[in-house]
Amino acid sequence: AALIAAEIAARRRIEPVVSPTTWPASEDRYDVMVVGAGFAGAVMAERLAADGGKRVLVVDRRPHVGGNAYDRKDDAGILIHQYGPHIFHTNSQEIFQYLSRFTEWRPYEHRVLASVDGQLVPMPINRTTLNALYDLNMQSDEEVAAFLAARAEPVVPIRTSADVVVSQVGRELYETFFRGYTRKQWGRDPSELDKSVTARVPTRTGTDDRYFTDQFQAMPLEGYTRMFERMLDHPNIDLLLGVDYREIRDAYPHDHLVFTGPVDEYFGYRYGRLPYRSLQFEHRTLDKPWHQPVAVVNYPDEAVPYTRVTEYKYLTGQEADRTSVTLEYPSSTGDPYYPIPCEENQALYKRYEALALAEPSVSFVGRLATYRYYNMDQVVGQALATYRRLGGARAMRQAP
Ligand code: FAD
Ligand code: UDP
Repeated sequence: AALIAAEIAARRRIEPVVSPTTWPASEDRYDVMVVGAGFAGAVMAERLAADGGKRVLVVDRRPHVGGNAYDRKDDAGILIHQYGPHIFHTNSQEIFQYLSRFTEWRPYEHRVLASVDGQLVPMPINRTTLNALYDLNMQSDEEVAAFLAARAEPVVPIRTSADVVVSQVGRELYETFFRGYTRKQWGRDPSELDKSVTARVPTRTGTDDRYFTDQFQAMPLEGYTRMFERMLDHPNIDLLLGVDYREIRDAYPHDHLVFTGPVDEYFGYRYGRLPYRSLQFEHRTLDKPWHQPVAVVNYPDEAVPYTRVTEYKYLTGQEADRTSVTLEYPSSTGDPYYPIPCEENQALYKRYEALALAEPSVSFVGRLATYRYYNMDQVVGQALATYRRLGGARAMRQAP
C-alpha cells in the first residue's frame, strides 16, 4: 500500500480540474468510492455527497472529468467535444431540472444532413429528403405515406436493424441511408444488430427536419466540462484524475463502490470480453468561418471511411473566424464507446449482470457498467434511480 501511495503521489502533478482538492491521505476512509467521472459517476457522487451527506472519492483514469461528454477549447480557442458530438435532449422534466442546477442552457435543435451522391438531404428521411432524391413534389403526409407504403417490404417479426428500416421504407432507401453507415459504424451488417439500433432514427412523412423531437433540447451554455465541474465541486467530494481505480482501490478504504467502467473489465473478463465499438476522432481546424450548412453531415456511403463530420460552432453558438470539425472513423480497437446491441452480446452481459447483482456493496451504473446503448439523459435517469434505490438521503444519514 505504501508503494501504491508513493506512486500516486508521484502523479500529483495531474491538475484536478475541479477546485484544487488536496491529495487525500491514503489512510482516509471514504463512505463511497466512485469509479468514473462521466454522467453516471458525477450524478452518483453529487447525490451521495450533497443529498446523502457521504464522503465520496471520485476516481477517473482519464485526466479530466466529463467522461465521453468532455469538451475543451482546441488550439484555435474553439470549444470542441473530444469524444465526438454530444447533443443533449430529453423528455424528462426531472432530468432536465436536475442538470439545470449545474448549468444554464443554450436552446439548440439538432439538424443532420446526409451526403448522398453529392446531394445533402435531411436525415431522418422526411418529405424533403424524398422530394429531393426522387425529383418529386409531394405536398402532403398522405402522399408520402403512400409513396413509402409502396416501397416498404413487410417483415414479420421485426427482429433486426435491417428489418426495422426495410419494413418502413423498402430496400432501396435502406441501402442508401442505413446499410453502409451501419456496417461502418458497427463493423457488422444491420441484419446482425438488434432492431433498437436503427429504430433510434425515425422516418417522417412531414417536413420536420429536426434530429430529435424531445421536449427539452439544449446545450450546456458554458459546455459540458463546466457543468461537471460544478456537479463535483462539493466539500464532501475528493477527485483523483489520471488514476486507474485498480491501483488505489486498497489504498483508500470505502464502504461502498460505484462502478461506471466496463462491467467485463471489473470482473477480470471472467466470461470473456464483451464487445464494444470504438471510434478514432480526427479533429481539424479549418481556415474559414464555416465548413458545412448544419452541425452534422452523415456519410452513409461505405466507400467513405468516416461516418459523420461535426462542426461545433453550430452546437455552441461560438463566434470565431475559423471553424473546427471532427471526423469519426469507426474502429474495433480503442476506448470502449458503444456496447454492441445483439442477442449474443446481451446473453454474455446477462452472465456478468448476475455477478454484479451478487455484489451488494457495489453499484454498477452507466453505459459501460450496464452494457446499454444509453443517451446522456438515460444515464442521468439511471443514476438518479440507483441513488434512490440505495435509500436516498434518509437511509444515508441513518447508516452507521
Ligand atoms: P462514460 O462517459 O464512458 O464515463 C465512464 C468513465 O469511467 C470514463 O471517463 C472512464 O475513463 C472511467 N473509467 C472506466 N474504467 C475506469 C477505471 N478502471 N478506473 C478509473 N476510471 C475508469 N448521448 C446523448 O445523449 N447525445 C449525444 O449526442 C451523444 N453522442 C454521443 C457520441 C459519441 C461518439 C459517443 C461515444 C456517445 C454519445 N452519447 C450521446 C452517449 C453518451 O456519451 C453517454 O450516454 C454518456 O456519456 C455515458 O456516461 P457514463 O458515465 O455511463 O460513461
Ligand atoms: N444510422 C444510419 N444512417 C444514418 C444515421 C444513423 O444507418 O444516417 C443508424 C446507424 O446504425 C446508427 C444508428 O442508426 O448507429 C443510430 O443513429 P444515432 O444517430 O442515434 O447514433 P449515435 O449518435 O448514437 O452514434
